[in-house]
Amino acid sequence: PVPHGGQAVQPAGDWTASLPQGGTVEIRGVTKSFGALTVLDDVTLTMPAGSVTAIIGPSGSGKSTLLRTINHLERVDRGFIAIDGELIGYRREGDTLYELKEAEILTRRTEVGMVFQNFNLFPHLTVLQNVTEAPVAVRGLSRDEAERQAHDLLARVGLADKANAYPRQLSGGQQQRVAIARTLALKPKVLLFDEPTSALDPELVGEVLDVIKELARSGITLIIVTHEIGFAREVADSIVFMEQGRVVETGAPAQILTHPRHSRTAAFLAKVL
Ligand code: ADP
Ligand code: MG
Repeated sequence: PVPHGGQAVQPAGDWTASLPQGGTVEIRGVTKSFGALTVLDDVTLTMPAGSVTAIIGPSGSGKSTLLRTINHLERVDRGFIAIDGELIGYRREGDTLYELKEAEILTRRTEVGMVFQNFNLFPHLTVLQNVTEAPVAVRGLSRDEAERQAHDLLARVGLADKANAYPRQLSGGQQQRVAIARTLALKPKVLLFDEPTSALDPELVGEVLDVIKELARSGITLIIVTHEIGFAREVADSIVFMEQGRVVETGAPAQILTHPRHSRTAAFLAKVL
């Protein structure tokens, strides 16, 4: 329990204990084209609840599009995606699937949080307002509740003293940590990161990766597109290598990174390692 209006009182080690569990992601035969370009080609993957998956692969291989389909920001042409057995974007009645209405999609989307390369904070809102906005608007939390939760989350990402700052007053690493706190405020079961450190100066990468590492121990399902191969090796349960919209191979970091089965994986790793 956190006293009204006060700072967090839980020790930093167990701050993730209150996050929801569950969050199994199943991707089955997902195909997606933009015009004549097939961007996802029969992608099938399972991310068990609480697992950490790193997606690697060359630019243009479909990594961002895959994340966006999990969040239903992109509609798939074929195949399906389910979280804890519930189809993304569809409702089942007997043997028939109906596409969800936009309002229903927005509600369901809160189960999946997404953190972008460029933070996407609201520039005209303070840090505290950035973190409280969605819980009040989408989850119907009272402003007091949302602020208590926000102060707690900001303390957890090391930004307790920045609640009243505006994004432009923060470093890129701090902005990205606010973005993570903002996403956690909706208590997602699944958290997607699309190259979360690619826009950061090298000396700021570590502070963001440390927060993600902490989250990796929390039981929330993490799916991270990253070029930080060392980080993937340390944190991921499995690594997915994509090329030209296809999953070339997937496996434990030790296996993929040291004994890739496919020459294309080896060729990619030779370039980035
Ligand atoms: P990655 O994240 O691996 O770099 P993306 O998923 O962003 O790859 O893109 C895969 C391919 O799909 C690229 O060739 C990209 O240009 C194309 N693409 C992505 N989004 C769109 C879109 N909205 N319209 C047309 N082409 C797109
Ligand atoms: Mg991308």
